Amino acid sequence: MTRESLSIPFGRPLLGEQAGQAVLEVLESGILTHGPRVKAFEEAFRAYTGAAYAVATGSCMAAMHLAYMHLGLKPDDEVIVPAQTHIATAHAAALWGARCVFVDSEPETGNIDIDAIEARITPRTRAISVVHYLGMPVDMGRVVSLARRHGLFVLEDCALAIGSRLDGTHAGLFGDVGCFSFYPVKHITTGEGGMLITQDPAIAESISRLRAFGIDRNIVQDREVPGMYDVVSLGLNYRLNEIGAAIGLEQMRRLPDFLARRHENHEVLAAGLRDVPGVRLLRSSHGRFESSHYCLAMILDRRLALHRPKIMAELKRRGVGTSVYYPRPVPLMSCYRNRYGGTAEEYPVAAEISSCSIALPVGPHIGRSEAEFMVIAVKETLAGIS
Ligand SMILES: *Cc1c(COP(=O)(O)O)cnc(C)c1O
Repeated sequence: MTRESLSIPFGRPLLGEQAGQAVLEVLESGILTHGPRVKAFEEAFRAYTGAAYAVATGSCMAAMHLAYMHLGLKPDDEVIVPAQTHIATAHAAALWGARCVFVDSEPETGNIDIDAIEARITPRTRAISVVHYLGMPVDMGRVVSLARRHGLFVLEDCALAIGSRLDGTHAGLFGDVGCFSFYPVKHITTGEGGMLITQDPAIAESISRLRAFGIDRNIVQDREVPGMYDVVSLGLNYRLNEIGAAIGLEQMRRLPDFLARRHENHEVLAAGLRDVPGVRLLRSSHGRFESSHYCLAMILDRRLALHRPKIMAELKRRGVGTSVYYPRPVPLMSCYRNRYGGTAEEYPVAAEISSCSIALPVGPHIGRSEAEFMVIAVKETLAGIS
């Protein structure tokens, strides 16, 4: 492949023949839901993360929505939400009528500014949500002790954090629940899909029931006569299906290799771009903090940031796909700005990340020589901006 024809998309799932074979086996079995693959996928994910329980769902958003249903979130409750995250972190709470109370990011990592949380806690606060931004673990010990002191539920949005560890413990195991995504550009995929992990048997039992209409699972399992069951609560249909789970099982097998590739690509990019004038990199793995390396975010200085669309277009012309995580702080998305009237001045760090950053891919679809090529492409592109 010549450099002229090189094409590096931001994300591309690596599925392969074995995933295809696994899907065919599901189709031949005729069991498309309520089958052995979802159970096996849950078990593989549980074992990998070290969780006591893992419950598969239709998406990360579904897992978070279920977590707040379990909590019994209601109108006028408040939930702490990071300003710099995917919209799903906020929607999952707002859909139950709760008010999202947004907290700005810390500049070094883009993670929620833990020092700023306590001042936002009121008698109505029920939960703190965090996102491990771009896979960099939040300092959860501090979040959890704050939550304990105020009697709050803790939800970890781990959509970008498969393989993220803090002090050796996997992300999602510090709070009450950790919610993962298997959307195609994430670390592993099932098409659409998600997983909730927890150490609490009561939460696992409740989420399993709520994801399936509130049907009493034990009665379903124990029932002697097919079609007989009881419904003990409201619920949703947020299950993962057998086809997705079969793909997910194959992806789990390849996860260690995927993560190693991400790590190496990130190192090549970080080393190559560290000293480029006008560019700041967010802090990645160090000491107790082990990132899953979702991507590499470059924060451009004000002068370069004015030319961000041009820089991204030029990188695309050179075959380098880029993205922005996330294009606006959540409180400035129209849906929430119209509700609460947030301004960029209230969330200066999140606003800087949104308006000045470019995300470069580090996924396992990228080899070392392509990562090296990206470094040159980025340097030349930025040097050409005057
Ligand atoms: C992708 C993403 C989600 C949504 O995941 P789905 O599985 O698509 O619902 C939620 N939070 C974060 C941080 C994400 O990056």
